[in-house]
Amino acid sequence: VNDHLDELYREIILDHYRSPRNRGELPVPPGHRVEGFNPLCGDEILLYLDVQDGVLVDIKTGGHGCSISQSSTSIMSAAVKGNSLSDVHDLIATFKRLLGVGEEIDPPDAPVDLDALGELAALQGVVKFPVRIKCATLGWNTLLTGLRDLTASSTSAYTAQG
Ligand code: ZN
Repeated sequence: VNDHLDELYREIILDHYRSPRNRGELPVPPGHRVEGFNPLCGDEILLYLDVQDGVLVDIKTGGHGCSISQSSTSIMSAAVKGNSLSDVHDLIATFKRLLGVGEEIDPPDAPVDLDALGELAALQGVVKFPVRIKCATLGWNTLLTGLRDLTASSTSAYTAQG
């Protein structure tokens, strides 16, 4: 990665840290509230999700922690808002693959299209700092937990396939 790109990525991360997108709360219900915690760094993420007819209509974020955890959550919220749950899951899988933690994804070594990632690509530099990967994925794993909560509560006949 060249220096110019590193600089650009650093600016994107700082911008999202200083001016987090989609900050706030949603009424619960109908919104769903979910929390994530990374004890290694002391990061906390709070998400409010509004899912209607298979679409993540709205997302609000809260919490505190290091610049990586907070900016990653901000970039995530902007990227997933308004998308279908299927697209949201695809994006979560792509992001985890970018950080090398997508081993459950098949195939695990599928190439990641950086151009298609937009600002998410800024977080790829985190792979150089393994201790920060949990910071970068915290918001995403919290989102995944929230979506699973909603799936479990909305479809009583649903049985987990693993
Ligand atoms: Zn952190």
